[in-house]
Amino acid sequence: MGIAIVGAGIGGLAAALSLHAVGRTDVTVYERATALRPLGVGINLLPHAVRELTELGLADRVARCGIAPSTLTYVNRFGQPIWSEPRGREAGYRWPQLSVHRGEVQMVLADAVRERLGLDALRLGHRLIRVDQGADAATAVFATAEGEASVTADLVVAADGIHSAARAARYPDQGPPIWNGLTLWRGTARVPAFLDGRTMVMAGDGEQKFVAYPLSGPDASGLARVNFIAERRGAGAETVDWNLSVDAAPIVELFRDWRFEGLDVPGVIAAADELLEYPMVDRDPIPRWTFGRMTLLGDAAHAMYPNGSNGASQAILDARTLAFHLATAPSADAALAAYEEDRRPATSALIESNRAQGPERVMLLAHERAPEGFADVHDVISAEELTDIAASYKRAAGFHPDVLNVRSSLTPVLP
Ligand SMILES: Cc1cc2nc3c(=O)[nH]c(=O)nc-3n(C[C@H](O)[C@H](O)[C@H](O)COP(=O)(O)OP(=O)(O)OC[C@H]3O[C@@H](n4cnc5c(N)ncnc54)[C@H](O)[C@@H]3O)c2cc1C
Repeated sequence: MGIAIVGAGIGGLAAALSLHAVGRTDVTVYERATALRPLGVGINLLPHAVRELTELGLADRVARCGIAPSTLTYVNRFGQPIWSEPRGREAGYRWPQLSVHRGEVQMVLADAVRERLGLDALRLGHRLIRVDQGADAATAVFATAEGEASVTADLVVAADGIHSAARAARYPDQGPPIWNGLTLWRGTARVPAFLDGRTMVMAGDGEQKFVAYPLSGPDASGLARVNFIAERRGAGAETVDWNLSVDAAPIVELFRDWRFEGLDVPGVIAAADELLEYPMVDRDPIPRWTFGRMTLLGDAAHAMYPNGSNGASQAILDARTLAFHLATAPSADAALAAYEEDRRPATSALIESNRAQGPERVMLLAHERAPEGFADVHDVISAEELTDIAASYKRAAGFHPDVLNVRSSLTPVLP
C-alpha cells in the first residue's frame, strides 16, 4: 500500500525525498494544484535545514536558488544599529544559511522526487477531502477532475499547509488562522546591492518593519535580486492567500521616510516585480498530530509566524525526523509516536516564541525604551541582553551551532 503524502510543498516533497533516502520506494505525493509553478518569494533555509538537504544530496541544487547570507543586522526605523551577527558558515556552522526563492526550491525538490521515485510519484490535481481510518491503514479521499478518488496507504502524511483539510477534520473548531493585526507585503526587486551584498537587514519595530535580503549577487551593473517584506500594524489584510497581488504605491508611501545609508526602502518597494499581501497569521499548537495511520507535517502541523525564518526549515526537519523513525523504530506506531515526541513540543514552543517576536524582540525593546532613537544601543539595551535574546532563540529552534554541529545525523545507519 505504501505511503501517501498530501501536499507537494516544501514539507511534502522533503518528506518524499527523506523516505526515499531510507529505502522507501513506495511513496506517492498528491497535490491539489493541477500544475506546479514557482510561487512565493524569498525564504531562508537555516543551517539546520541546509544540513538535512546536504545529507539528502540536494544542497548544491538548492544553493543555486539563492545565496548564503553573511550577516544579519537589526536597525531601528531611523537606521540606527541595534544588533548584528554573522550567519551560516561565518557564524561557525558547518552548513550555510541559504536565502532562496521558495518556488524555485519547490521546483528543485519536485524534480528530485520525479528523478528518484519516478514520474508517477508526484500526482497533481488531487485535492484532499478527508482521511478515513482503517486498521493499520488510512484512506485518503481526493477530489479530482474525474471525480472522487480513494487511496489506501500504510501511512498518510498530511503536508497540506496552513489550510490543511486533514487537520481541520480533526480540529473542526479551530477556525481560520489567527491574525495578530500585522499585514505583510512581500516582493522581489532588482535594486542596487546594499552593504556587503550578502547582508540581511531588519529595520523598524513592532508597529512597522522592513526586512530585505539578497537572493543573488550583483550583476555587471551592480543590481542584485532582493527579497523584501514590508510590515505594518492594523493595515488591512485578512485574506490568508499566499498569492494575493496588490498595488505598491500606498505601501511605498507608508515607508517614504525610510531611507538609510545604502538601503532606500521606498525605492526597493517601488521596484517590486509584484507586491503580495498576506496577514501575519499562525495557528495554535495542538495536542496531537497522529491519528491512527495519519500524521501531520509542516505548516499543517505547526503554522508559525515567519519572523525567525523557520517555516520551511521546520518542515524539512519534520520530514527527516519522520523518515528516520520509520526506518529505525520497531513498528509504524512506535515510529509515529517517536516522530511526534521529537517534533511536536519543539515546534509548539517555537510558535509561542515567534509570538513573542523570537529574535526580533531586540527591535521591540529598542523601540519601547527609545522610541525617538538613541546615540548608542547599549545606552538602552545591554550587550548581555542582546546576546541572550539571539542565543536563546537559536537554542529553542534547534539551530545553535554548539548543538547542531555535533548532533548525530538523521540519516540512519541501516543494516
Ligand atoms: C503558493 C505558496 C506561496 C508561499 N510563499 C511563501 C513566501 O513567499 N514566504 C514564506 O515565508 N512562505 C511562503 N509560503 C509558505 C511556506 O512555503 C511554508 O510555510 C513552509 O515552506 C512549510 O511548507 P509546507 O510544505 O508545510 O506548506 P506549503 O508550502 O504551504 O505547502 C502545502 C502544499 O499542499 C497543497 N495543498 C493544500 N491543500 C491541499 C489539499 N486539500 N489537497 C492536496 N494538496 C493540498 C498546497 O497546494 C501546497 O502545495 C508559501 C506557501 C505556498 C503554498
